[in-house]
Amino acid sequence: MHTPAGAITFGSIEMVGRRQRNRHHRPSPRFRHFGEDAIFHRYAADMRAHARSYRGYRVGGSGVGVTAGGKYVQLLGYNTKAAEGPRQHGDLCAEMRLIDDARSKASDVILEMWIAHDPESDDATGLELGVKISCVHCRTCFKTELRNPGSPLKRETRINFIDANGKKTPRSFTVEQILRICS
Ligand SMILES: [Zn+2]
Repeated sequence: MHTPAGAITFGSIEMVGRRQRNRHHRPSPRFRHFGEDAIFHRYAADMRAHARSYRGYRVGGSGVGVTAGGKYVQLLGYNTKAAEGPRQHGDLCAEMRLIDDARSKASDVILEMWIAHDPESDDATGLELGVKISCVHCRTCFKTELRNPGSPLKRETRINFIDANGKKTPRSFTVEQILRICS
């Protein structure tokens, strides 16, 4: 489990907006619309408190997974990067922890993620999108996940990137779009 002691705990999630519906959506009698984006923004921003970065670059993430039985589950993640240079054992991005969290909570599908951090241009391409999108390591990880039909990460999984300072407009892309923009 990657959820640290003292992390925010959630009950069964029942708050997924209409726009999260895609071919992986499973109707559930417990499904209700409330919360919407704002609460997931807040969860993602709150998770930055658990992040650790040698350069103070803290990233928090939240997400929604769906189990085979149609139950919605809250997903959480945060980044850790111990030192400058190559990634070491234990260095993980918030996106990677969200995928791990989905697996540990038996989610077949990740419908959506929210990633809160400071705006930066893309590390590999220099692309300026206002907010920072998933890094080159995440993109490699996404490609590996998509080759595995059992992965909860899907082409349609939507990732919302949020400026933790609230200045830039959030941007939202599917995994497929991210890989197309920055491959
Ligand atoms: Zn990354």
